[in-house]
Amino acid sequence: MTGGKEQIMQARRFITGGKDVNAAVCCSCGVKAGTTEMKRAIKTTFTDFPQLVLTPSTMICAECERAYNDKNLRFKPIYSDKRGEYRIIDRAEVLDLICNPQDEWVLSVPYSFKKHHWLYAGLSDKHTAYIGTDDRTIIVEYDKINIVELVNSVKDCIAYGVPRKELKAGKYSVFTLVKFPFLNTCEEFFEQARPCGLIDLIVQYTPAVKDKKTFERKEENTMLTSAESNAVTLLGCIAKSSRYRAENGLQFWDGFFERRINRFKSLDAHEFVSKLSEAVGSINNGGYAEMVRDMSEDDLNDMMAVIRSKTHLIVAIVYAEKDRD
Ligand SMILES: [Zn+2]
Repeated sequence: MTGGKEQIMQARRFITGGKDVNAAVCCSCGVKAGTTEMKRAIKTTFTDFPQLVLTPSTMICAECERAYNDKNLRFKPIYSDKRGEYRIIDRAEVLDLICNPQDEWVLSVPYSFKKHHWLYAGLSDKHTAYIGTDDRTIIVEYDKINIVELVNSVKDCIAYGVPRKELKAGKYSVFTLVKFPFLNTCEEFFEQARPCGLIDLIVQYTPAVKDKKTFERKEENTMLTSAESNAVTLLGCIAKSSRYRAENGLQFWDGFFERRINRFKSLDAHEFVSKLSEAVGSINNGGYAEMVRDMSEDDLNDMMAVIRSKTHLIVAIVYAEKDRD
């Protein structure tokens, strides 16, 4: 965890109302005098000691013990912007609170309702949020990310019907990419916010939508470079004449074709085409062998570079265009 320990201790002082004074320290907040032997205060089934015990002390203060035994802090989303107080919030409030940071605040949200999520919350301010979740602190740097735009984009994706699981992982099926071509642009934005756990949190706390938006696919002339267009044509011909596709269309598009491309894409163009067509049971009636033979060495290299770096996207475009003519 990155530099959150002091923030987390501050959050505990904040929630419990502890003053920043020197005293014989509590193992958890590091401020108040420990009054109970930690071993006696904490249930034996509790395993998350590294998060509860932040100082070498073996004593815990009354406020921290109370917080530890407070079921709300375990099961409910909690928010505080006033020292010594916290309130249980509605799930629907979570994203608004993140989008409107106060001078001093603490937010902690459960995922599984099994963990002491508050142990991971830090004291947040207008520049940085340290949000507690089941097993990590999510750090949001407001000066680096447009949080409102991010939350709205994720909400839109869910409203259009992009599967939550795929949004969380950033791994979209060919079918999803074809149905929602805007994901490519969104993803450039989302991928910065994924490692810190923020996308996970937003997806988790975006409410279910009653009226799904329908995404109107515009008659877009997807602006492909000539290398991309060559890649789409070549792979389209191979797919079209594949015996495997004719028999197992769904499996073919849902990973089979892409895995075979990945297996051979480091080869040079001629070898790639021959190995791939063999692997998918394709016979050269699409004329792709001639296409490759007639291309210049530079064009072939450019095309292969695209196939190597944008495999998933190219397969999605091939899939989208398969019924064109
Ligand atoms: Zn304490």
